[in-house]
Amino acid sequence: MITLRKNSNALSNQFEDNHPEEILRWVAESSIPHRIGLGTGFGLAGLCLIDMLVKINKDIPIFYLDTEVLFPETYALRDRLEEKYQIEFIRYATPLSMEAQKDQYGDRLWERDPNRCCNLRKVQPLNEALMNYDVWITAIRRKQSPARANTGIIEWDPKFDVIKINPLATWTKSDVWNYINTHEVPYNPLHDRGYPSIGCTHCTTPVADGEDERDGRWRGQDKIECGLHSQTNGDPRGHHQPQEIEETWQQVAQQ
Ligand code: SF4
Repeated sequence: MITLRKNSNALSNQFEDNHPEEILRWVAESSIPHRIGLGTGFGLAGLCLIDMLVKINKDIPIFYLDTEVLFPETYALRDRLEEKYQIEFIRYATPLSMEAQKDQYGDRLWERDPNRCCNLRKVQPLNEALMNYDVWITAIRRKQSPARANTGIIEWDPKFDVIKINPLATWTKSDVWNYINTHEVPYNPLHDRGYPSIGCTHCTTPVADGEDERDGRWRGQDKIECGLHSQTNGDPRGHHQPQEIEETWQQVAQQ
């Protein structure tokens, strides 16, 4: 694992100046397509990756986490994207309905214990999703928040035991908008109504001028991430054996 971390930093640095499309193409050509998964929350950056990836290889799975309390505009966007690109997103969700969550954990868990709510509705479904992949492509960017400032283009994620690829790590908000506009990518209309970052209805508010783009998430709470991209919560699940990971990594690194 230590060797992999060292290698991931060196390899990651080689891609600092590459366009995300080149990074995606490299990943697509150097790994088994069905073992790569692009995870999306249908945010602007994720939409750029979807647009790039379907043009490279439509067989690479694209999945999302359905908390069942996403905005109606988000579900509508999902449907629109499926139609435009002729693809089907893979849905992962907790079997726990919101009603069952209320019965089991009490009302408005997202206010009283948002970490638990996110763990139930996002982290556990992501864990289930990533059991299917060796390589996880994400849309996180360094400029999104201080917590993401050190994001590498290629990382080893010990929490989920996967190679994590962040092709947009170096992109700014205007890079993202340029791509969306140039390629006429459909996007969530809430972005035009003051919501730069969109999650669940219960935990997303618009932001004011001068606020960070993720300041509208869990407003008033001491919480800045869902737990999907932090690497400090929970134990590694260990579904990949070290040798298996080493082989995957070598396969990727040799390209
Ligand atoms: S963002 Fe809010 S509603 Fe959604 S899973 Fe997390 S705490 Fe629950």
